[in-house]
Amino acid sequence: MGEKTPDLLIIGSGPAGLTAGIYARRANLTVQIVEKEYRGTGQIADSGRVDNYPGLPGIGGYELGEQFRGHAEKCGVSFTEGEAGKLWREEGKWKCRLEDGRVLEARAIIYAAGTVHRQLRIPGEQQFFGKGVHVCAWCDGAFYKDRVAAVIGGGDSAVDAALYLAGICKKVLLIHRREDFRAAKSSLLQAEAEENIEILRNTVVSKIEGTHKAEAIWTQDNRRLPVDGIFVEIGQIPRTEILRELAVTDENGYIQADETGRTALKGFYGAGDVRTKSLRQVITAAADGANAAVLAAEDLRRTTEKEV
Ligand SMILES: Cc1cc2nc3c(=O)[nH]c(=O)nc-3n(C[C@H](O)[C@H](O)[C@H](O)COP(=O)(O)OP(=O)(O)OC[C@H]3O[C@@H](n4cnc5c(N)ncnc54)[C@H](O)[C@@H]3O)c2cc1C
Repeated sequence: MGEKTPDLLIIGSGPAGLTAGIYARRANLTVQIVEKEYRGTGQIADSGRVDNYPGLPGIGGYELGEQFRGHAEKCGVSFTEGEAGKLWREEGKWKCRLEDGRVLEARAIIYAAGTVHRQLRIPGEQQFFGKGVHVCAWCDGAFYKDRVAAVIGGGDSAVDAALYLAGICKKVLLIHRREDFRAAKSSLLQAEAEENIEILRNTVVSKIEGTHKAEAIWTQDNRRLPVDGIFVEIGQIPRTEILRELAVTDENGYIQADETGRTALKGFYGAGDVRTKSLRQVITAAADGANAAVLAAEDLRRTTEKEV
């Protein structure tokens, strides 16, 4: 007799996956999390300071991730280091082949692999990351109260970020490399009407300059724009390449799921930044993990042992 199939396999140990693990263990499920980074805790580990997680103002992102992970370990979640490469359903079970060839299986899967922020790939961007260069206005905008910020991008996230920052900063430069914005017309009109937003069209940023922190943006036509904070809002790429054959993603690659995490596939849930949603933050990722785990537990309870 082989070992009993674990109830739940979670892909990714960011805030969504770790919270899903905690809730699933408390629902008495057997849980395994597979994470590709050594003791990874997701994107939040890259944040120097998190000021919007309730109850823990000013906590370091690395420390917050460690606390999530420690909590999941204490609840009895088991962790496997490895990169999920292919997922499929066979004879009522979900299977996951890791890049190194190992195959894991479970009765249900919560996919919480997050996103990657697109980069400009220009000089200074990496050097001043976290020191004046940011990728999330909702996370770090408050550091620039009454100061000058620039938002780079032309889609919805850029225009929404500019509008958000306009309520905090003295002045916001919204810089787009083209004439036309991809963002919704209504938000663009709002941005155009804001007194403290200046829109620079057909402006290509070529370099970020600074000493200890970012101090100015250089444009391709050789203008130097002094700024205090720079928000690169040119989109995120959901890590869902391996789900292509499962057809659970929308046209932008995000898993199509509401806050229950349920998808069109039986026993397959999406949680965190990787699913369709409007606000990608630690708190919404954690909430997704909790919801998906509780719903998965409910669904598994209804599934007869014969099916697995
Ligand atoms: C610099 C920075 C600062 C931020 N600051 C804040 C802030 O102050 N406040 C806030 O609320 N939010 C902040 N955010 C956003 C926040 O980090 C994310 O919203 C949150 O981490 C999303 O959690 P998640 O679990 O959905 O995904 P992620 O955190 O992206 O975690 C996904 C995990 O899955 C793993 N993974 C991916 N693919 C695979 C695979 N194939 N196999 C195995 N593992 C895989 C990854 O290694 C990663 O550990 C910040 C983000 C960044 C980048």
